[in-house]
Amino acid sequence: MHIVQIAAEFAPLAKAGGLGEVVTGLSRQLTQIGQKVDVIIPKYDFLELGQLTQLAQEIPHFSVREGSQEISNTMWSAHYEQINLHLLEMHHPLNYFKRGKIYGFNDDVPRFLYFSKAVTEYLKIKNRPIDIIHIHDWHTAAISSLIRDYPKAPKIVLSLHNLEYQGKCGARDLEAIGITNETLEKYDGKDPIYRDSYNALKGGIEEADAIVPVSLTYAKEILTPQYGCGLDSVLLKQKAKIVGILNGIDETLWDPSTDPHLKAHFKPTDSLEKIKFAKKENQTFLEKHFALKAPKGAPWVGAITRIVAQKGPEFLEAAIEPTLKNGGVFALLGSSPIPEMQQHFEKLKKHYKNNRQVLLHFDFDETLAHQLYAAFDFILLPSHFEPCGLAQLIGMHYGATPIVRSTGGLKDTVFDAQNGYTFEEPTIQAFIQTLNRAMELKKKDPSKHDLIMSNGLKSDFGWQKPTQHYLTLYQNLLR
Ligand code: ADP
Repeated sequence: MHIVQIAAEFAPLAKAGGLGEVVTGLSRQLTQIGQKVDVIIPKYDFLELGQLTQLAQEIPHFSVREGSQEISNTMWSAHYEQINLHLLEMHHPLNYFKRGKIYGFNDDVPRFLYFSKAVTEYLKIKNRPIDIIHIHDWHTAAISSLIRDYPKAPKIVLSLHNLEYQGKCGARDLEAIGITNETLEKYDGKDPIYRDSYNALKGGIEEADAIVPVSLTYAKEILTPQYGCGLDSVLLKQKAKIVGILNGIDETLWDPSTDPHLKAHFKPTDSLEKIKFAKKENQTFLEKHFALKAPKGAPWVGAITRIVAQKGPEFLEAAIEPTLKNGGVFALLGSSPIPEMQQHFEKLKKHYKNNRQVLLHFDFDETLAHQLYAAFDFILLPSHFEPCGLAQLIGMHYGATPIVRSTGGLKDTVFDAQNGYTFEEPTIQAFIQTLNRAMELKKKDPSKHDLIMSNGLKSDFGWQKPTQHYLTLYQNLLR
């Protein structure tokens, strides 16, 4: 089967969150089981090309229309490990993809609509038989319309990693990439606030052959007004096309036995004694590195997250004092696309500047993320909603017990007092009670805590199973 994955992210080269890891993990596993997979992403200026092999120009020049202008593009091909990667360099006068980061610009919508259009033109030039085009989130959703006149009509799968981001735009943005009047109707957002708004994700949902929310619970939640982000009624109409598939973690990117960022290594199948010893060494390393001073036996508690409303930043802040009261170390690694939120947390950092049990680090830092997963005893995901969540899965794989709000993929992967701790009500009180319960158990009944940690380490969250589900879906579509 020939599958083409098209996305804004591809870990570890271009990653802002879980989306990039999913594209890599699924593509790697599909390739390993003998499927022909091509991945296409923008050739961002920050890509570390040294991580690639066989980088070469595939098509030195092809031009693509945006509104009234013709823009030149170069397609590059390369290998990332065993994955076939294609990097689309767009010589756009506004340097759409040469800005040092993936998202966060006022013109994100035209940027990714143009990328969608240019990828489609490239596929048409190559004109090879394709079975499945797998697109991810709003950034590439418009491809489902643009590709319709492709000679052998591939089936389109749209994964929904986060319904909150939809690519709302004006008709002009869609017309600029050649979305025709009749198709435009499908993009009509009917936004109750922005009445003339169009919506790239809505167009994709209506046009795709299958829609894949990234967990079974999220697949149900998004059909309700509470979680549907305004698209619940649209999704309800397309219910027959919806198939929830839980994400996995890429066990090559996340392997605590070989992880180059770690001080001390372990296999999740090692004895608990060995794992705990390695965890202690990883904690000591961070303690020295950041001049922290942890009391003896201190539980390490914290989070690695985008700091946005979805992730419950108010809960994370509220966790600091109870952690300290329990003699613990609190660490938060996060970055926020919202300036006010970033400023708020910077203030918090000043407040705790002299506290040597608190580490607040506001940046995107892959190395520190790996080191924290290996050091944490508890990882916090008090999310208001969570399509799948990878941090709890990586946490378990690295011996950090998750404390999560029971929603979306968190509900499908974390089970109270079995492999983690859960709470239902999105209140600070319910969260802090659960956090205290977890820390107390570790202190008073360490063997029970060890059992919960060991269940997490044994859980199978690799890409083998989810890939089989995707493969079955692809096969059903082609039948
Ligand atoms: P989302 O995709 O909603 O951001 P996920 O839990 O699915 O959340 O995936 C988040 C991924 O991004 C994890 O691999 C996490 O370690 C990583 N991550 C989030 N924030 C940071 C950060 N500031 N520095 C490094 N990695 C981060």
